[in-house]
Formats: sequence, C-alpha cells, structure tokens
Amino acid sequence: MPPFLAKIIFIVGYWTANFAIRTPHIKTHRKTPVRSNRDTSWDKACLITVAICGFIVPLFYVFTPLLAFADYRIPTLIGLAGVVILALGDWIFWKAHRDLAENWSPTLQIRENHRLITFGIYGRIRHPMYLSIWLLVIAQAMILPNYVAGFSGLLPFATLYFTRIANEERMMADQFGADYEQYRKVTGRIFPRW
Ligand code: SAH
Repeated sequence: MPPFLAKIIFIVGYWTANFAIRTPHIKTHRKTPVRSNRDTSWDKACLITVAICGFIVPLFYVFTPLLAFADYRIPTLIGLAGVVILALGDWIFWKAHRDLAENWSPTLQIRENHRLITFGIYGRIRHPMYLSIWLLVIAQAMILPNYVAGFSGLLPFATLYFTRIANEERMMADQFGADYEQYRKVTGRIFPRW
C-alpha cells in the first residue's frame, strides 16, 4: 500500500476512535460525580505514554520528515489486513463505549450510581475496550510503514494493560461483590467465552 494512503487510513481510523467516538463520553464523564478512586500515578503515566505513542508519535511521522530514517515497506496483504483490524477495533471501541455509557472512566473509578454492565458486548467479555485498543495498536504496526511510528503503541499499551487489569477487577469485585464474581465466571477477559 502506498505510504500516503497508509497515513490517511491510519489518521482517519485513529481520529474516529479518539475524537468522534470518545468526545461525547468525555463530556458525560465530567458531569458524572465520582464515588471512589483507585487511580495511581503509575496508571496515569502509562495512559499519557499510550496517548503520546499511539497518537503524537504517528502524527510526527505523518506530518514531518523526522522519522523518515525508520521507513520500510510493508507487504500489501499485511497492510490490508491491518485496515480490517483497524475497522474492527473502531467498531468494538464504539460498542464498548455505548454499552458502558456513563459508567465509563479513563482511569479506575467508581461513579455515583455505578451499575455493573453485563449486557451487549460486556455479556461475553469483561474488557472489550482494552481488546479494541489492542486491535488499534496492532493495526498501527501493520499499517504504518515506519519502525518507530508503527510499533510505538504496542509496548506502552501492553504495560498499561498488564499492570491495570488485576487492579480494575479487584476494584469491581470490591464494589459489586458476588455479582462481579458470578460475571467473571461466565465471561472471558478479552477473548469471548461461549
Ligand atoms: N475494562 C473495561 C472498561 C474500561 S473503562 C473494558 O475494557 O471495556 C474503565 C472503567 O470502566 C473502570 O474505572 C470501571 O469503573 C468501569 N468498568 C469496567 N468494567 C465495567 C462493567 N462491566 N460495568 C460497569 N463499569 C465497568
């Protein structure tokens, strides 16, 4: 795939997730009072790194020649598979936000009137939003023909995911008790349980 096309597809895919899908939820999130908070500085630092490496570094690649030293060719089939994964990632990101609605937070928080969501995409997996971000950072690596910009999202997100997931599940279990334990039995983390 020609690099200019890869750049356009990537920017549209990431813009869709980060702005078109997320912006209305950020507004709702600001209006919904927080009941308790398990944010850690580590978690916040990881979030900022994910944003920089998944969005700002690729922008440098797309709009400046600074990263041209790391350019390489990606076989067309891999690039096309990346586009499919990007579209799937955007769809799951949208669906997870829709199902979680006002219960969503970018960090580990319980809101006032927080409900345990077990329907929709949350009926099969407990972390569809993280699944969608995995798909987006994998797509980034498959679409952008540049070693730095393409692979920059993977390690920061892997670090966030593996250090956050147990804390998040502990917070949810403390909040929802037996309901969450039961929910955990019938769902997979990021792979659906049938
Ligand atoms: N881990 C989930 C949600 C990410 S947003 C996913 O990947 O889809 C993080 C916030 O969502 C957490 O602070 C928690 O309060 C909330 N949350 C996570 N799972 C939830 C569920 N099943 N029902 C309601 N809120 C949930």
